[in-house]
Parts: sequence; structure tokens; C-alpha cells
Amino acid sequence: MHRPRVRPVLDDLATYQPGPAARGSSAHTHLLEANESPHDPPPGVVEAVAAAVAAANRYPDFHGTELIRELARLYGVPEDHIALGAGSVALLQVLFQAVGEPGAEVLHAWRSFELYPVLADLAGVRSRRVPLANEVHDLRAMADAMGPGTRMVIICNPNNPTGTVAHQTELEDFLDRVPSDCLVALDEAYREYVRDPKAPDGLSLCRERPNVVVLRTFSKAYGIAGLRAGYLVGDPYVVARLRTACLPFSVSTAAQAAAMAALRARDEVCRRVDAVVAERLRMRMTLVDSGWDVPASEANFLWLRLDGASAAFGRWCDERGIGVRVFPDEGVRVSVGSPGSNDAFLAAAAAWRATSRLPPESPLISLDP
Ligand SMILES: *Cc1c(COP(=O)(O)O)cnc(C)c1O
Repeated sequence: MHRPRVRPVLDDLATYQPGPAARGSSAHTHLLEANESPHDPPPGVVEAVAAAVAAANRYPDFHGTELIRELARLYGVPEDHIALGAGSVALLQVLFQAVGEPGAEVLHAWRSFELYPVLADLAGVRSRRVPLANEVHDLRAMADAMGPGTRMVIICNPNNPTGTVAHQTELEDFLDRVPSDCLVALDEAYREYVRDPKAPDGLSLCRERPNVVVLRTFSKAYGIAGLRAGYLVGDPYVVARLRTACLPFSVSTAAQAAAMAALRARDEVCRRVDAVVAERLRMRMTLVDSGWDVPASEANFLWLRLDGASAAFGRWCDERGIGVRVFPDEGVRVSVGSPGSNDAFLAAAAAWRATSRLPPESPLISLDP
């Protein structure tokens, strides 16, 4: 039997498991695997979506004019500096396609967002991974690793899944070393959760440097992951080309309306983000006090480097109705959710520590009946 011929790279990608894929099979009570907002959509979003759906026989606004105008006003940038996407990953994909000439390579840290190498493979671009140093971007090593084929560098700041941030001065030193014809994409999906005053604001960096673009999303702090809206801010030369490369009408009417409603509810969104940041601190302090090694996080998740015990800890949480994201042999990422879910996770983590005084080579046995 002959199968239709498709690119072999898709065979490998077919085995790729995105974060929340397990959700269909195992119904977790506590959804801490996908860094989603634990809150309902911000006030006004449901009504805005309902109104948008009533006009669903019409195509969406092609350029997302109104949403772009709102974002431009919010950030004080001209409208031609902004592109919209169906989630910021759609814009990431377009970035990979935009630089994907034969021989092109894209540089990013590792461990970082698991979609980067996938998008590289899809675009036929080589991805080169520079290891984190102590869970933080090693920007000096990344600058050293750049070669003549490097067409783009992605900096995930804060980094998913470690939650750590690259600081302003180090990032500027790095950017000084990047040739002006190489794009730098600052993936700031979690920027709203950052409280470290040394962390850069990508939007001011991209104003000064035409090769820097910033990716932001409505999926995390704004709490509308299910509607798919993200945006990119950068130099109009790049933005115009990326807009052309996006699939037309990919940001639906409902997504555009929801994003505008979420922006109008910004005060409430900020209060919710503050609550998540407070919970992040509480969770980390509780874990650190009981002996866990948890890097300080500037995002809405925490990173537990468990190495070989990662999968077992993931099952341990799973058995207690808690969904976490397992990176086998590396670590476990847990989202900061509602206080109740966070308490459930903290209880599971405490119970794990109480039972895992076994020598590392022996199988981890659940002490529950
Ligand atoms: C969640 C996330 C995104 C956002 O994805 P959307 O497509 O906007 O939902 C982008 N980058 C990173 C690193 C993320 O973790």
C-alpha cells in the first residue's frame, strides 16, 4: 500500500504532544498544565463575542483595524507597527516562514517553549538550541553561537517553562552583538506577570531597534486563550511583510471583539494578574520552605526540576486530579491557578516529599491505599 507522499518531517511531528492534549482522556479537577487564567473571561467579553457571532455570515475585519487602533493607543505606537495573529503562535509561525530561506537557522534557548523547534521543522528551518545556564537564558553563549546562517533569534522572556527573566542590561548587551539584518523575536507571552524591575520592556527595545519584534498574547493574562488572539509589535518594514504573509481573515470576528472587550476591562485584568502574582509568591515560598528548589518565576507558573523523577511526580499529581506539564527527565511545570487548585498542588507536593525519601534508584511507590 502506497501512502500519499508528504514531507518526512511530519512523521516526527505527528508524535509531538502539545500541553493540554491529555485533557480529553483524563479529566483533571485542577487544570495547572497550560498556564491558562483561572478566571472566567474578563467582564464584557462574553457579551462582545455573542454580538460578534450574530454577524458571523460576514468575514472578519481584514486588518483588525479597531483592535490595532486600541493597541496602538494603549502602547503609544503607530498603527503600522502592529500585526495581529490567531494567537501569538500564528505570528511565530509567520516569522519562521519569513526567515525560512534554504540554509537559514533560528537560534533559541533550551529548555524553552516547545513549539519553537516544531515551527522550525515545519518551515524547513534549522533550529539551534543553546542550553540555559541555571535555568536562565545564557545570552553570551547565544551571541557566541550566532553564525552567518542565523536569520532569527527567539528570546522567551519570561522563559517558558522555567519562569526566569533575562535582564535589561544583559539583553541590551546581547542585542548590540546581533547583526542588524538578523531578526530578534522577544516572546513576551507572560509580560503582564513580570514584577522584577530589572526585566526589560520589549516594547521600548523594539522602538529603538528595527530588527527587534515583540510578541504578546491575549491567551494568558487577558484570559481568552480559547478565542485565539495575539499581536506583534515591531518596525513597519517587518510588520508590513508579516501582515502580507499571514493567512487572510485568520483572526475571527469573535476573537477581535473579545480582545477589544478584554482591553476595555484592563483594570479588572490587572487586579486578576496581581492576584495570580500573589499566589505565585505564596506557592513558591511554601515549596522553598519545605525544601524544593524552585527558581524565582516572573510568569504564571513555577518550574520544578525533578530530572528522572519528573514523570513519576506528574503521575502523582495526576492521581490527585491535578494536571501539570511534565517534561520527561527534566522537570515539571505547574501553572498558578485558583487558590483552591494551588492548595491542592501544594498538598500533593508536600505528600510527595514525605514519601519520596526512598533511594533514587528504587521505584517510587504511592503510599495511598
Ligand atoms: C502561551 C504561550 C504563547 C501564546 O500562545 P497563543 O498562541 O497566543 O495562545 C506564546 N509563547 C509562549 C512562550 C507561550 O507560553
